[in-house]
Amino acid sequence: MKVWSISRAVGLFTGDSRALLIMISGAVLLAGWIWLQQNPQHDPLAPLDLNDPPGWATAGKFADLPGNQALCHQVLTRSNVAFTALPGVGDGPCGLPDRTQIDNPMVVPGNAIATCPVNAGLALWLNHGVQQAAQEHLGTQVTRILHLGTTNCRRINASQTAPWSEHATANAIDISGFVLANGEYVSVLQHWGEGEKGDFLEAVRDSACYSFRTVLSPEYNADHADHFHLDQGTRWARVCR
Ligand SMILES: [Zn+2]
Repeated sequence: MKVWSISRAVGLFTGDSRALLIMISGAVLLAGWIWLQQNPQHDPLAPLDLNDPPGWATAGKFADLPGNQALCHQVLTRSNVAFTALPGVGDGPCGLPDRTQIDNPMVVPGNAIATCPVNAGLALWLNHGVQQAAQEHLGTQVTRILHLGTTNCRRINASQTAPWSEHATANAIDISGFVLANGEYVSVLQHWGEGEKGDFLEAVRDSACYSFRTVLSPEYNADHADHFHLDQGTRWARVCR
């Protein structure tokens, strides 16, 4: 009797159970495929759309943008981000091969020129970081984002020997504050670590890390006491602090 039971169990495993296993595996794969179609931010093969929230595959897709202007412009166009592609100028450490004008009226002063990946990073951050943080922490919306500039032909910390700053190639933007729909102002210098506006600033700093390679805030060092530095440099290590 026992021998018969064992041989029957083996038979089931090698016959019916195998079919069942294949069916379950197929169902799991199909469910995974449907889920990825509904959540393209997690799908490494789905094209980057800046209207999608950040997901598991977002950083990898952003890593493809530096040095590939055509791909980056496709991303901006697909995401309905307004921009003006300008001809590159100069060469060497301060050459500007990628000059993409930021045509977003929220970004003040207007018509700043940065690389396309910086434009793309800003768009995702505005779509899925800044407004959510304003609503959550301040109960309002952001109407203006104030920046200190994008382009500056200098080395890091203005040192004579340090590597060139990402600002040398317009591959960075420095954000100093935000104007809210109720007319109030949130300043990195005045409000970092201070109450609800401080909580908002910390949240927008953190969310910038989804779409920028490097994010430096007052927490990083005293040189950033009055602004967030956001850049798309291709150095190996990401920095988000
Ligand atoms: Zn900077």
